[in-house]
Amino acid sequence: MTPAPTPPVHSALRGHIVTFRGNPFLMPPADALVEEPDGLVIITDGRITHVGPYSETVAHLPPGTDVADYRGCLISAGFIDTHVHYPQLPMIAAYGEQLLEWLERYTFPTERRFADGEYAATIARTFLHELLRCGTTTAAVYCTVHPQSVDAFFTESTRLGTLMVAGKVLMDRNAPDFLRDTAQRGYDESRALIDRWHGKNRQFYAVTPRFAPTSTPAQLELAGALLAQDETLFMQTHLAENRAEVAWVAELFPDSRSYLDVYDRAGLVRPRSVMGHGIYVDEQDLCRCHASGCALAHCPTSNLFLGSGAFRLFDVMDAKRPVRTGLGTDIGAGTSLSHLQSMNEAYKIAQMGGHRLHPVQAFWLATRGGAEALHLEGRIGTVAAGMDADLCILDPKATPLQALRTQMCDSTADLLFTLMMLGDDRSIRATYAGGTKVYDRANDATA
Ligand SMILES: [Zn+2]
Repeated sequence: MTPAPTPPVHSALRGHIVTFRGNPFLMPPADALVEEPDGLVIITDGRITHVGPYSETVAHLPPGTDVADYRGCLISAGFIDTHVHYPQLPMIAAYGEQLLEWLERYTFPTERRFADGEYAATIARTFLHELLRCGTTTAAVYCTVHPQSVDAFFTESTRLGTLMVAGKVLMDRNAPDFLRDTAQRGYDESRALIDRWHGKNRQFYAVTPRFAPTSTPAQLELAGALLAQDETLFMQTHLAENRAEVAWVAELFPDSRSYLDVYDRAGLVRPRSVMGHGIYVDEQDLCRCHASGCALAHCPTSNLFLGSGAFRLFDVMDAKRPVRTGLGTDIGAGTSLSHLQSMNEAYKIAQMGGHRLHPVQAFWLATRGGAEALHLEGRIGTVAAGMDADLCILDPKATPLQALRTQMCDSTADLLFTLMMLGDDRSIRATYAGGTKVYDRANDATA
């Protein structure tokens, strides 16, 4: 007996839609923004089928479909976090160190606990709930060296229906014994995880060497060998975050022209590669990123917290060789999982460098820019027909102060600016993943 076909599942959201038709670093922000002040989004089986003015689009509403009324709120694509470590959630806000000492003192002891699969499952659940509370629907996530930390993460993401990119950290030197693999074991464990998870139920695997100092050349080469087997795989690592780290890499790899070149020689600089930070890079590196399609993750709250340095966003986005760039929270060095807070700090870093980060540029980075960084712009990052229905609902009046400031807003750009300067998790009224409401502020619970 063949089972009866499942009837399609429809839903619809009404509110002020904000999304993008182009890159606001390469065209005037006002031209890049698409908005519909009283808009309707219709969703069938997890995918957006219609977007437009309510008055016209309502004609396409399948009979009997409930419309969630978010008038007074903005409907945006869900935020995309292009660099974050879920196991570091419990050690957020650790005092006093810069990168290399911070890893030794706080990070490695915390990551040790993920040898315990049950602990990993508990933290994965908490982490994903926090992400959804912040309106983030996709992230590129570092697990730990333990394969069970990856299983725990993808299991919970599958349950929620979120689109996630994640992988087991590779470290075969310059790390404590309890967190070290070997080049071969790292390869074998990654291969098994790829077979188990990659491309299934919205989960995607990223080959994840932590950074050049903690992998031997042999391990980096095997990471490249894994990637060569499947061009749909992702790769994530850290690049040129801190001056002492850059000097160490130059010592460890004396034959490489630059830090990026270390990864390039191993075959790791390619589309779907995301390099965290990229603060101390030169023109040749940026040209190579542009040409190869690899991306940088700008992590403002982390860079400020660890005193790492100032990302040169407007140089990176230079129209003559723009580099794919998204925003990363980099928890636990970052200080908030909210991309509204990432935008806030990105604005201040740009100001210190003499640039104005326009709110349309900031929201683009947090959504469409992140999707392009991951080469997933055909599925996520904009509110348009044919895209996965990963959405967040932003409330510009979430606090009394925001309600007061919002009265002064005379444009959508200004409304977005108040959200990014004053907003945080309280600004997220609801979050949808694959068309399903997975967070609602009113009852603060995931599905
Ligand atoms: Zn990081």
